[in-house]
Amino acid sequence: MNLKGQVAIVTGGARGIGKAISHRLAQDGAHLVISDVNLEEARQTAQEIAMGDVKCLAVEVNVTDGKAVAEMADRAIKEFGRIDILINNAGITRDGLLLRMKEEDWDLVLNVNLKGAFHCAKSVLPAMSKQRRGRIVSIASVVGVMGNAGQSNYAASKAALIGFTKSVAREYASRGITANAVAPGFIDTAMTRDLSAEVRDGLMKQIPLGRLGTPQDIAHAVRFLVSEEAGYITGQVIHVNGGMLMI
Ligand code: NDP
Repeated sequence: MNLKGQVAIVTGGARGIGKAISHRLAQDGAHLVISDVNLEEARQTAQEIAMGDVKCLAVEVNVTDGKAVAEMADRAIKEFGRIDILINNAGITRDGLLLRMKEEDWDLVLNVNLKGAFHCAKSVLPAMSKQRRGRIVSIASVVGVMGNAGQSNYAASKAALIGFTKSVAREYASRGITANAVAPGFIDTAMTRDLSAEVRDGLMKQIPLGRLGTPQDIAHAVRFLVSEEAGYITGQVIHVNGGMLMI
């Protein structure tokens, strides 16, 4: 399980699930590009991670900005000479019942969660194609498969991200590039910490394993999908949800 010398870009890598994924990949020797809208936090995470042979670059990138994303890929190539792994992790919620949902909240969620992945994949695929090897993992959600009242924008973005992943998998398989998704259930991060005790209790009842997931639970699945051993797996969705959805 060695990623020594490989280069990984993690979007939204400053905190939460992205941070856990960055730590996990660095543990196995990958150099990291931690990209986030919050440069200060990305720098702190990069400082925590960089050690020994592992180099870590923090960059300020909003994934909705195609030009900034392309510059990030150029910078990764300039610093490290290659890009092996892309983790499309940056994501947001703007919840609301459909009739009350503002058009701007629909657009923003689709732009970050879906179009962001489009910009990022488009920017790294030329380098991966040249190398004839690459791994793209997108962080979807259980909600993208089940739906969720109050999250029509978010669920639509994550369901679409799965369709996008399968299409990239088919388009780039012949170049040795795999594309897969990890669909977390409810994970204990800033995104879920604001839920009321009542909602949390309700959620817990739906999870056979009886706890929220940790960012590390997701990082382990991602780590497997980027490994050599997962080379025959593409276009798949790995569900990491404590059993709340079984398909
Ligand atoms: P967090 O909000 O904790 O972290 C997300 C990170 O992405 C933050 O650092 C955030 O920056 C950054 N970010 C937000 N918007 C952008 C953008 N436009 N461009 C670049 N970076 C951005 O979320 P989680 O760690 O919980 O979620 C990570 C992924 O996992 C998301 O895609 C989410 O949808 C998915 N997920 C999470 C679940 C959960 O229960 N937590 C469940 C299922 C899926 P800032 O701090 O400045 O906002």
